[in-house]
Amino acid sequence: MEKLEEPICKICKEKKADQTGSHLLSAFFVESMIGKRDDESSFLLTDKPNLEHRIDRKAEPIKEDFIFCRGCEQRLSYLESYISQEVTQKFDKAEYRENFEVKATENGFYYKECKNVNSYAFSLLIYSIIWRASISNKELYKQFNLSDNEILRVLLNDLLPEYKDYKVKIKRKIWLNRLNENSKNYSWPEFIAIRKETIEGQDTSRNMIFLHPEFNDPYNLMLNEFIILYSEKIPFELNQDLFEISEKLKDWNQIISPTKILKIGIFNNEEWNTLLVIAKELLKAKKIEAIRININNDFQIKFGIQPTSQELSYLIEKFIKNEDAKNNKSA
Ligand SMILES: [Zn+2]
Repeated sequence: MEKLEEPICKICKEKKADQTGSHLLSAFFVESMIGKRDDESSFLLTDKPNLEHRIDRKAEPIKEDFIFCRGCEQRLSYLESYISQEVTQKFDKAEYRENFEVKATENGFYYKECKNVNSYAFSLLIYSIIWRASISNKELYKQFNLSDNEILRVLLNDLLPEYKDYKVKIKRKIWLNRLNENSKNYSWPEFIAIRKETIEGQDTSRNMIFLHPEFNDPYNLMLNEFIILYSEKIPFELNQDLFEISEKLKDWNQIISPTKILKIGIFNNEEWNTLLVIAKELLKAKKIEAIRININNDFQIKFGIQPTSQELSYLIEKFIKNEDAKNNKSA
């Protein structure tokens, strides 16, 4: 394909976007979702009328070329390695229990106070993931769009560490102090982060990325072991509640980020499974609806009449069986 103009970096809007293979999901999630960079596998969930999400696509759905410059890629990875080190690798480990003090709200909902994690840095990471999903043209994210990308781009561009010669050299402590200092000068979109209590091996939530295009007030996202409710309204409002958080957690307003101390809600396995069921049922319903429409159209073209509901159910079932067989062969 011919490109007439060199694309520019979507973060700094200055440099040429010369970085290839940028991860749309940060390493923070890639690590937990699809393993090491050389051994990547992932599953794509869309509402297209086939069952392609069962095909292992390696890292293809979450990589994109020429969206960032090499410098900005480094800035992002600096942030990611900090959060990976202080959250991903420690959150549920017994030896770091002191860093994550378990607290309960009045209604008995549990959350952790993350003492060694800078709340603004964590927020930047969450923003970077949501923002990347919004600007991406990849299949997985196509339907997902924030109404305001610019507020997050500016926060990221202004507050990620500086780089020189494609390297970020600033000491972490200095950057974090500067971040705290500068945080006053910005308004920060608010969000709630809830995490699965423990992660054992490769369980089902590890492959789950779910960005609902219609639940946007706040945006209801599932990113592996996290649920994020991201509000474009400041202050946070919970008007759409796909995961029925307000039922499980009456005092959700006690864990809104960013605040001085980062608070991450905790769901136990049982609570978490109810979320997975909600996401899966929604996807299934959409997929079956799309399949139904396709089959109905094909039938009318072929026979000139509508299929009866019995015929339709039979054809849908047959279609799904065929798709399954195909996917099992190619897996
Ligand atoms: Zn850049």
